[in-house]
Amino acid sequence: MFFYIILIFTFALRKSCKVKKRGEYAVRLSGLKEGIFELTYHIGNPFFECHPHPDISGGAVDVKITVQKRSDLLVLHLMLQGAVRVVCDRCLDYYLQTIQADQEIYFKYGDHEEELDGNVIMIARDAHEIIIDQYLYEYIVLALPIKKVHPDGPGGVPGCNQEMIQKLNQHLVKEEHQAIDPGWEVLKQIIEKTN
Ligand SMILES: [Zn+2]
Repeated sequence: MFFYIILIFTFALRKSCKVKKRGEYAVRLSGLKEGIFELTYHIGNPFFECHPHPDISGGAVDVKITVQKRSDLLVLHLMLQGAVRVVCDRCLDYYLQTIQADQEIYFKYGDHEEELDGNVIMIARDAHEIIIDQYLYEYIVLALPIKKVHPDGPGGVPGCNQEMIQKLNQHLVKEEHQAIDPGWEVLKQIIEKTN
């Protein structure tokens, strides 16, 4: 029974992801005149449920996009600012990591869709919209620092969960005691036998 509930829930989640993917994070092209336009989006927890990443378990990110439409080219300037929930490398507790990204993508018109370079993409001249989910996801992941650690609190007080650090240290000491060098163990047995 429990398995079926999980199955139904997973299916419902996938279905809602699909709807969100096509509707919410896209730049519509049909009817778009030449010029400069601004779009704003908000990325919340549902986005990260649909686009899971092992290091991110939620967040809130504001996205501002400047769309520049020219006869030969479409330029998207994406600015992302917000915070994502990640696990601290030092104390293993969750914290909110602030992130910021500033990226430009160029879309050239052609007869098919193709990535020409990292941020230059060919799109069909009659394309109705550009789905930007994948770009948003990639820029958020790229904005994560290599070392994820709680930021210090006011006055330089460490922001880490001290209780967790204490527990981790106790665990490490225990492991050190348990880890016996096999060479030393053999030698110890020989000494014990000869005595
Ligand atoms: Zn920490």
